[in-house]
Amino acid sequence: MYIVLLGPPGAGKGTQALTLSKRLGIMHVASGDLFRHNLNKETPLGLEAKTYMERGDLVPNDLTVRMVLHKLKSPECNHEALLDGFPRTIHQAKSLDEALGQENKAIDVVLCLQVSSEKVIQRLSGRWICQDCQSPYHTFNAPPISQGICNHCKGALYQRPDDTETTAANRLGVYMKQTSPLIDYYNNQGKLIEINGEQTVDQVGQDMLASLSRIEKERSVR
Ligand code: ADP
Ligand code: ADP
Ligand code: ZN
Repeated sequence: MYIVLLGPPGAGKGTQALTLSKRLGIMHVASGDLFRHNLNKETPLGLEAKTYMERGDLVPNDLTVRMVLHKLKSPECNHEALLDGFPRTIHQAKSLDEALGQENKAIDVVLCLQVSSEKVIQRLSGRWICQDCQSPYHTFNAPPISQGICNHCKGALYQRPDDTETTAANRLGVYMKQTSPLIDYYNNQGKLIEINGEQTVDQVGQDMLASLSRIEKERSVR
């Protein structure tokens, strides 16, 4: 199964991916996490991505596609993935379709989280991330049990440097311009399911699972 999570920065993709990937037993592949990992390790790829990430701009397609496809081909993915933050441009989406097509695979479904711009900015400005397992928290919406410490792995929480108001606003603009055309792209392929991302974390998760089981049922009768 290949599932894509689509939606603006701060929509709740990472939050949902955490539980959904466990529940479905498929690998969570987050392009932003892969870039931050490379940045921390100061790999050539990380250093090349750095300035784009700091500005909240997209890293060039060729670099991004190479990194994500390399991950998808790794044995740990086992020809399945829950994609989060990729694809983000039509070019990336086409490259992904082509690469999966070569293995006689395809994206099964695209879950698109809908959240207003005001809510997204509020979420990003209060976001805290675990430095070890990347779990997201929020000062008000989803505080950790102990302040500054991850519930899952006891790692330290930090605020991303690109979650400041100005950079977040730029990222939202980038999403509208470069990523939102993917909504039509996947809708035309009959793969898009819209999810109301403004509900509680649990309710959003339940809606996603309900949509996935509906698709499975439809397939089994075909
Ligand atoms: P968020 O989920 O908050 O939008 P991400 O962690 O997905 O943020 O991405 C952080 C940054 O990493 C982006 O602003 C961008 O610079 C880079 N990035 C992540 N995924 C992609 C992608 N698919 N294409 C280009 N750049 C990306
Ligand atoms: P994305 O991966 O789409 O950028 P995240 O999952 O990191 O988004 O969530 C952004 C912020 O919003 C985090 O601080 C997270 O705790 C919070 N959040 C996520 N889902 C919800 C929700 N349904 N209601 C309120 N806050 C949420
Ligand atoms: Zn953690």
